[in-house]
Amino acid sequence: MSNLEIHPVPAFRDNYIWIIHNTVHAAIVDPGDAAPVISYLNAKQLRPTAILITHHHSDHAGGNPQLLEHFDLPVYGPVHEKIATVNSPVRDGDLIQLESLELTLDVMEISGHTRGHIAYFAASQPSNLLFCGDTLFSCGCGRIFEGTPRQMYHALQKLTSLPNDTLVYCAHEYTLGNIAFARTVEPGNADLRELEQRANEMRRQHLPTLPTDMATEKACNPFLRCQHPEIIRCVEQFSGRKLTDPVDVFTALREWKNIF
Ligand code: ZN
Ligand code: FE
Repeated sequence: MSNLEIHPVPAFRDNYIWIIHNTVHAAIVDPGDAAPVISYLNAKQLRPTAILITHHHSDHAGGNPQLLEHFDLPVYGPVHEKIATVNSPVRDGDLIQLESLELTLDVMEISGHTRGHIAYFAASQPSNLLFCGDTLFSCGCGRIFEGTPRQMYHALQKLTSLPNDTLVYCAHEYTLGNIAFARTVEPGNADLRELEQRANEMRRQHLPTLPTDMATEKACNPFLRCQHPEIIRCVEQFSGRKLTDPVDVFTALREWKNIF
């Protein structure tokens, strides 16, 4: 597992299509659009080896048909979602061997955003890697479209069980907006202020704020901090009632973010 590069190909307004490559072969994560991927592969003379899909939304899987016209590829994706172009459905606990990249990926089911959403985790050197689609964002989490708040809460808990040094490759550049909300619900968090400065600086230079890492998310992401007294206090004020269960805190937090 040596010398992997992970490159963000921007797409649409704020999507990142992550390309994992070793300068020869490449795996493509969530290609919502084929054109920018094909340009990148051509420019770098990379040979695609697989497509990895986290969930069925078109900004993540919409580029598949066109990519498959050009390349004959395995397309991994969630077994519990209907995605016509997925030819290698995978489920929680499956291992995917990408031999040309010397990379093994663990499939984790993390439903909530969609019913069958999955993530891909690699215990890799020098850092572990996580591709988590629209479930965990830097300082935020995905909207709950098909699952329940409880499912989303547990999906995020599952991700936080990964090592602190795990690099987190989210599918959207939502960081600054998420930080604005996070500061509202936890104004006393000093790590968050530091992250805001770093993220502002990155965006000023038109650079991605991603990947983030699990240690940063545990310190800053309000959706992973539903047991912290300041957050509980703020969310109780918002919802006008006492919240004792972290799942209830999470649910109210997500509702608040939806209208923020
Ligand atoms: Zn989505
Ligand atoms: Fe998306």
